[in-house]
Amino acid sequence: MTSYSREALATRFVDSTLARDRCEWCRSPWRNLYRGRLCRSCYDKRTRLKQAERFISKLGSDGEPIPQLAHLEVRALRHAIANCKRSGKVLDGVLAPGSSALDLEHDLDWLSRRICHKKLFYGLATQLGWIFGPEHIRFLRCLIRKMIDTDTSRRRMERARSDAILGGATE
Ligand SMILES: [Zn+2]
Repeated sequence: MTSYSREALATRFVDSTLARDRCEWCRSPWRNLYRGRLCRSCYDKRTRLKQAERFISKLGSDGEPIPQLAHLEVRALRHAIANCKRSGKVLDGVLAPGSSALDLEHDLDWLSRRICHKKLFYGLATQLGWIFGPEHIRFLRCLIRKMIDTDTSRRRMERARSDAILGGATE
């Protein structure tokens, strides 16, 4: 059996994760592709946006009043899709080589804020850099990102709705 260094094993783990088919919008390697090179979640948002836009367009061409909720749904879905694409870009950056110990500190802080509402790891970057090599850091960030990805996919639509209601909508 070939023996690999720990650093090489970390590289292999992340690279094999990256080698999976990934959604074109959210870039997640942890969700199966569904249709049109998108995961189920992104595909559903695209379909719902098309339906909502068609609904508004039909009402408009019939001279019917367009319910405020229909506009709200379109704005919320556009927000959700923009958020998916934005987090896809972040994920691409996280999984690429070259993460720093400070990046890992930020990820750990994100997790601790989510779990216990406190930044427990502020200032830990230097020690993390002494303990973990660059590929170990990339590996750990990959694991953390999987948790973030799972958590945010649950919350993304809720957040997009509240963004649309508060008015910062992407048109
Ligand atoms: Zn997706």
